[in-house]
Parts: sequence; C-alpha cells; structure tokens
Amino acid sequence: MQTAIAPIRMVDLIGQYQKIKPEIDQALLDIMDRAAFISGPEVKQFQANLEKYLDVKHVIPCANGTDALQICMMALGLQPGDEVITACFTYVATAEVIALLGLKPVLVDVDPMTFNIDPTKIEAAITPKTKAIVPVHLFGQCADMEAIINIAKKHNLYIIEDTAQAIGSDYTFTDGRTSKAGTMGQMGATSFFPSKNLGCFGDGGAIFTNDDELASKARMICNHGQSRLYYHDEIGVNSRLDTMQAAILDIKLKHLDEYNTARKNAANYYDSAFANHPNLKAPHRAKNSTHVFHQYTLQTCGIDRNELKKYLEENQIPAMIYYPVPLNQQKAYIQDGSYPITEQLCNCVISLPMHSELSEEQLSHITNTILSFDVAQDNNN
Ligand SMILES: *Cc1c(COP(=O)(O)O)cnc(C)c1O
Repeated sequence: MQTAIAPIRMVDLIGQYQKIKPEIDQALLDIMDRAAFISGPEVKQFQANLEKYLDVKHVIPCANGTDALQICMMALGLQPGDEVITACFTYVATAEVIALLGLKPVLVDVDPMTFNIDPTKIEAAITPKTKAIVPVHLFGQCADMEAIINIAKKHNLYIIEDTAQAIGSDYTFTDGRTSKAGTMGQMGATSFFPSKNLGCFGDGGAIFTNDDELASKARMICNHGQSRLYYHDEIGVNSRLDTMQAAILDIKLKHLDEYNTARKNAANYYDSAFANHPNLKAPHRAKNSTHVFHQYTLQTCGIDRNELKKYLEENQIPAMIYYPVPLNQQKAYIQDGSYPITEQLCNCVISLPMHSELSEEQLSHITNTILSFDVAQDNNN
C-alpha cells in the first residue's frame, strides 16, 4: 500500500530554508534595521569565509554567475576577435558572455564518461587567436584540470573555470595535491543562483583568483571601473552581491559540506538502485575529482527518454533534461564541427530530483517508479 509522501521537487529550497529559518530571518531583519543593503559588512565577512573555505587568496562577490564569467574575461584583457575554447555541452551562459564581449566561442566536444570538455580534443581547436580555455565543471564534477593546465601552459592560454555547478568539489592532481573547484586556473567564476549547491535567495555570483593584480582589476570592473570614488580607470559594469544575499550565503556556507554530503548520499542510493539496469547508466565518478552532484544525470539506452520523463511526471516525480540541444545547434551559436558525444548526450540524458532534503522514502518512491517503467511500457503495448 502506498502511503502519502512529501511532494518531490527537483530542488527543495523550502525544506532547506525551514531548517535554518530563525538564523536567516534574524540576519535579514538586522540588515533592514541598519538599511545596509549594498556593501554592508556581511559582504566582506562572506568573502573572507569563502576565501578560507576554498583556500583561495581572493573572492570577489558579484551579481550573478554570468557576470562573474564576463568580468573574468574583462579582467584578463581579452579583446574582440580573440578565441575562447569551451565545452559544447554546457549551460548557455558560458558561451554567451564570450560572444557578448566580441570574442569567439570555439566549442569542443565532451568526454562521454564525465560529460566534461575532452582534453584530447582541445589542441585541435587551438589557433594563433586562442587566448583562453573555459572548462565547465558540469553537474558537480571537475573537468580533467591537470590535462587542461598542461595544454594551457604549452600554448600560453588562460584558464577560467566555470564552477557554477561544482562549488565544494575537490580535484586531486597526480602528485597528490588537492584543490577546490574554481581555484586551479587564473580565475574561477561561480553562481549563487538559488538552485545551485550554494544558493542565495535571488541572484548572486563570485570570482575566484590567487592573483593580486587580477583580483584588484576584477574588483574595480565590478564597480564601474572605479579605482577610488568617482575616478574611473576602466570601463566596468555594475555587478554587486547585495548585503542580504551575502548574509544568507554566509549562513549557508557553514552547511555546504553537509548539503553536498546529503546530495552524495542520495546519489549513492540512486546508484545502487540502477546498478546493472539494462537501460540506465548511472553517472560516472572520475578518479581525480569528488562529485558534489549538482545534478544526478542518467543516460538512457534502448528506452524512450522522453516517455520515461512523461511517466515520472504522471507519477508526480519531476525530471529535467539538462541539456536538450547541443550549443553548436543553438541558433545564436551555430558552429560547424563534429560533436558526436554532445549530440548523443542531448538525446539520452535525464536528470532526477537532487537536493539536500531528499528522504529515503522519497528516494525509494523515485527509484521504484523508475524500475517499474519497463513493465508499465510493456503493459501499454
Ligand atoms: C548557472 C550557471 C551559470 C550562470 O549563473 P547565473 O548566476 O544564473 O548567471 C553559468 N554556467 C553554468 C554552468 C551554470 O550552471
């Protein structure tokens, strides 16, 4: 007999908030009392705590992850016509800011196991105009940074890590050194969009770097290119993390490892349910990176992915397709070239509910429903 279970959501922001509500509410009321809405002390405090967590010299908070990527490229002085290599299988923001700055996005296919940019295909995409590589740590797992760093060094290219989906993930180099996602290239960019692993209650983002000069440049660009009040040395933008978002993030940062562990536990549950399934392939876990499971993404084979999604939705289980269209086929970013892995993934991936609040009861309902899909299909035919 089926007992009523709590509604299942892709991301459960309400459940997460309930657990820290008194602390968050108090912090927001304090800020309202002080009316310190922009550049309040909470921004610096969050910045310092995130620097400590990531073991990076500089965190520069800004308004969102897309801006963070754009400001990195501006701080590095990339010029119109410069080419920037990134993954074909990613959220559009990565390629969008490249194009917006008049740079040329050059897309590279991904590794079929990790879904991240395939380092063995990067060198073929390098031309004399190439200036930077933007690896995306997709779904919560780091791209193969050691190989990417070696290529970048050989060809004198900058690396900007898009770590919007992988905050807290650890990468291990062959010499045993471990680094947090976003701190291995010249610059890293992240997003605090509410559904990310560390999310605020609106838009937010940050830039990471160990380089003092790049840090002060990025900080200046965030604030209208201003070096001191009303002196503008650079063309900048208006991109700030407001005080309330910083206060929320500072509280949630203390729980980030615990949130990521809860996600990993949910992923382990899914993995064991789908082990040996003839039509479903669980996400691969790379040896050199931990996985913080921003998404739990299955590959389907021999079943209709869209029918499975419909079936889940009929059973009140949300599922999403990240991403249905390869970037090279998006109208705004049409590119020739061969992207067989990305094309294949866009046709077969399906992401299941993944967040820090999934109960065993919910996980059991989700996995049992998925395991009954074949039978349901057979009965329909
Ligand atoms: C969410 C995301 C972004 C953009 O972040 P916003 O804060 O929404 O601007 C960029 N890249 C990737 C891979 C993302 O997932």
